[in-house]
Amino acid sequence: MTDKTGALRTRAAETETTWQCLTCHLEVVDTVLPRKCPRCGASRVKFVEVGAQAENEA
Ligand SMILES: [Zn+2]
Repeated sequence: MTDKTGALRTRAAETETTWQCLTCHLEVVDTVLPRKCPRCGASRVKFVEVGAQAENEA
């Protein structure tokens, strides 16, 4: 394994997303899915993306 992954760091793709923990309902705003919940410690599989952006309404 290597720590050097010098590819694909496109800032334009770093869009903040709101994730919500299904266990404690804590909302975390980040560009990536949290590894675990900072409040209750639930793993990332407990997080769902909150669709707060209405830009893609069809
Ligand atoms: Zn939680």
